[in-house]
Amino acid sequence: MIPGPLEVSDGVRAAAAEVPRRHVAPDLVEAMGASLEAMRHVWRAGNEAQPFIVAGSGTLAMEMATWNLVAPGERVVVVNTGFFSDRAAEMLRRRGANVAQVSAEPGDAPGADAVAQALDDHPTAALFATHVDTSTGVRVDAEALCRVASERDMLTVFDGVCATGGERFEMEAWNADVYLTASQKAIGLPAGLALLVASARALKRRRALTSPPPMAIDWLEWLPVMTAYEERRPAYFATPATTLVWALRTGLAEILSADTDPATAMDARVAAHAEVAQTFRAAWRELELDLVPVSEALAANTLSAVRYPDGVGQELVGAIKERGVVVAPGLHPQLKERYFRVGHMGDVITRPTDINRCIAAVSDAVRAARSGL
Ligand SMILES: *Cc1c(COP(=O)(O)O)cnc(C)c1O
Repeated sequence: MIPGPLEVSDGVRAAAAEVPRRHVAPDLVEAMGASLEAMRHVWRAGNEAQPFIVAGSGTLAMEMATWNLVAPGERVVVVNTGFFSDRAAEMLRRRGANVAQVSAEPGDAPGADAVAQALDDHPTAALFATHVDTSTGVRVDAEALCRVASERDMLTVFDGVCATGGERFEMEAWNADVYLTASQKAIGLPAGLALLVASARALKRRRALTSPPPMAIDWLEWLPVMTAYEERRPAYFATPATTLVWALRTGLAEILSADTDPATAMDARVAAHAEVAQTFRAAWRELELDLVPVSEALAANTLSAVRYPDGVGQELVGAIKERGVVVAPGLHPQLKERYFRVGHMGDVITRPTDINRCIAAVSDAVRAARSGL
């Protein structure tokens, strides 16, 4: 029950266990093409946007967005909600960007007004934000941030590694430019794929860059390959992770299986995550445990970041494990000794038995810790 890598569905596991394909095998070409098409639906991106499937992790997807969109010397505003926003800011600095951060106390998120102010301070090329920060369980209001950036004609990049597939994100309707993730979080696959969709505007920005990204993460190297696969033609630039692509088709199809209309299917998927999140939050309330996010509105549906009871510390994670469930310790550098994290995204949301088992293990460990004080 950690916030990634997750337990995968039986279908994904069976697909991942099949004989590895060649990158140009006709059935692999079909799996890649179908996955690219499915990504447009899961991301709620239009036909103008371009999905990319590349071997790597979420950090590589972040690197791709950074290097393909931002030129050295450009100003970028980072909405900082924790550990992974810090990572984005550092990456942008290494790209030579002039990074301005809008931060809040851990557990809180800057409001759209504060972000608008920062965008207006100096000419700015892009806004970067973490949709759900896995270190705090805080979800930013992505729609409001997109509005603020759109009004100013600035590009937006959202790190959706702990959100994509589990939280509402309307890439086309909100006019977002990059939404990126990794296979092992809310998408529900084994680790190893960097997945992102870039808007037409984002690709235009890449074409205008005079200092190109490293070759392996250059959108313009990958674009003809993605186009070919979507047209069901084999292509090669660098070898894809064929076993994971084979499983990706299955995983994305499962996400979209709730309805024949992909829009309704995503609504159902997001609603199912919200419902499970409510179940967990009710359990934390019952145990009189506080969340790290300072309000319900900021609390993600994909994971809970929960403060330890008074007088109890990280030993609780071990006590929960002794009861058969693995949860994660804190991650935010300022308060990691004071809370633990429970992932509730991906296939597990369809398994009430596992959810109840997790809640029972945490409840029992908390009660035992309190009675031992
Ligand atoms: C896990 C995570 C990352 C990093 O992804 P890796 O696959 O570990 O490289 C980045 N951002 C967020 C929000 C994450 O949760």
